[in-house]
Amino acid sequence: MAQWSEKLMIKAVCLLLVLAIVPGCRRTKDTASMPEVIKTKTGIEMVKIPGGWFDMGSKNGSPDETPVHRVWISSFWMDRFEVIQEQFKKYQLPDPSHFKNPKHPLEQINWTDAALYCNDRSRAEGLEPCYDEETWQCSFQANGYRLPTEAEWEYACRAGTGTKFSFGNNVRKLKTYAWFLENSSGKTHPVGQKKPNPWGLYDMHGNVSEWCNDFYSENYYKDSKEKNPKGPAEAQERVLRGGAWNSSAGSCRSSYRTSDPSIDDTCLASDAIGFRCVRGTPLGDNPNAPPNTSTGEDMTKENPSKKASKTGFVYDDIYLEHKTTEGHPEAPQRLVAIVDRLKTKGLYSQLFKLSPKPVSSEWLTAVHTPEYVERAKESCEEGAGYLDSMDVPISPKSYKAALAAVGGVLCAIDAVMEKKVTNAFCAIRPPGHHALKDMAKGFCIFNNLAIGTRYVQKKHGLLKILIVDWDVHHGNGTQAAFYNDPSVLYFSVHQYPFYPGTGSEIEKGGGQGLNYNINVPLPAGSGDADYVRVFKEKLEPAARDFSPDFVLISAGFDAHKDDLLGSMKVTAQGFAELTQIVKVIAEKCCEGHLVSILEGGYHPDGLADSVEAHIQVLMR
Ligand SMILES: [Zn+2]
Repeated sequence: MAQWSEKLMIKAVCLLLVLAIVPGCRRTKDTASMPEVIKTKTGIEMVKIPGGWFDMGSKNGSPDETPVHRVWISSFWMDRFEVIQEQFKKYQLPDPSHFKNPKHPLEQINWTDAALYCNDRSRAEGLEPCYDEETWQCSFQANGYRLPTEAEWEYACRAGTGTKFSFGNNVRKLKTYAWFLENSSGKTHPVGQKKPNPWGLYDMHGNVSEWCNDFYSENYYKDSKEKNPKGPAEAQERVLRGGAWNSSAGSCRSSYRTSDPSIDDTCLASDAIGFRCVRGTPLGDNPNAPPNTSTGEDMTKENPSKKASKTGFVYDDIYLEHKTTEGHPEAPQRLVAIVDRLKTKGLYSQLFKLSPKPVSSEWLTAVHTPEYVERAKESCEEGAGYLDSMDVPISPKSYKAALAAVGGVLCAIDAVMEKKVTNAFCAIRPPGHHALKDMAKGFCIFNNLAIGTRYVQKKHGLLKILIVDWDVHHGNGTQAAFYNDPSVLYFSVHQYPFYPGTGSEIEKGGGQGLNYNINVPLPAGSGDADYVRVFKEKLEPAARDFSPDFVLISAGFDAHKDDLLGSMKVTAQGFAELTQIVKVIAEKCCEGHLVSILEGGYHPDGLADSVEAHIQVLMR
């Protein structure tokens, strides 16, 4: 009887899951319009702004915002962030900023010095400078960097919206998108801390105002050109756009205009004035404007079409050379079962194969101490039998396998960032989430995922990383690595109380990292519905608030109902639903950039079922 009702419940849950997936699929449509992000030769992130029509100005703003008029903008690249002080100093330019901090926006910068920086950056990348350094005339034909026209700036800020702000008309939301008078505490802040606009541009509504290339004229909109307008031929002042740390909410609106005469390079501009660069027409892929017919619609048509989702798969035979003790659940057979299953089901041939790359010690020691790395190497090669405790059995080739496990994760991250794949699964071992900075633990040698997190941040320059850990055990090592770090949101759902003993709800992070560590302990016996509820009620809102730049999954499948170690009742279909939820988060926040890393999962068939279901969702 008990068994019968359990089956009924599973059926009901499956039905619910199918229903739950439908809106998830629909929501992914939004992300189809998220423009491409590139990194320039000098390491600066730029967003490819799609060409399109928009309504410039506002009927309800100041007189100089009228008349509202239709404008066509060709595609261009725009800096994702305001220029920061450390970038400016690269070219031996004296930093004029008042609020000194390498990661803060540059300010007190006059217009000519901003133009000079554009030229220096162009030269550093072998591009043709746009500005004549005597007349300060801008050549729009040159392929280098320049300041945006006023029309380009407003178009990029609006990102397809016609509302007061890029997030709508509700001024109360401004504090989540901008540093301005009410929340800045009277100073600038590091760039990229607030939510980006719909096209992924940060700080468009606040932090510092931004220089445009155009001269300012109050009456300019009356005779503004229709296609790629460039401002009046000459005037005394240059245009400033976007609110600053000292602006009222009204001055942070998308259409707000102001100006400043700081063209004289002997004086400093205000400490609320900075800038960002653009690159123009040589990169524009749509020089000819289509007819000026409808509103917003045109812009979605001009957006890059969504690429077919390609999923990467990391595997290498070296992972089988990490031998544990006879009968140990963390055995090479786990990976053999996964690969066999993917081949049998015809999925293997559809995956983009990735092989681990060599790992320099720089990445290992981003998380582990050099002494520990050395001890791991020696213990394996000397045939010690185990590392640190009986908990981590090792063999002579375990160190090589552990390095390759890390290398597999790094390779998957590179493949996603280089847009070879949209997401990737790493079928690696040994697992990693229990490994501490100076100690092996729970079958884990190196914390593969924690190292990957630092790699995404340092190698690829992304700021905010979301880690979702659904292994049945709490990821004590990962929690410890980022406990005080607000740039990493660690979310773990696990059986509790259970090994390794950590993971209670009150472990919320420390210092600056307070509330960036979320543990959701669940009692033994929890199943699909419990996990899905936790993901919907706790993970989704937290991820939305955090708005990650990259998502990593600690994908352990030992919460499976047949697992040898865990006592949970999750099915393969349940893992598919969890995957769908995380995938939609990645699609909404960061172009679907997601790398999933195998942790536990000790029942060969249960593991193969679960990984198959997981990968099928990633490939959709
Ligand atoms: Zn586990």
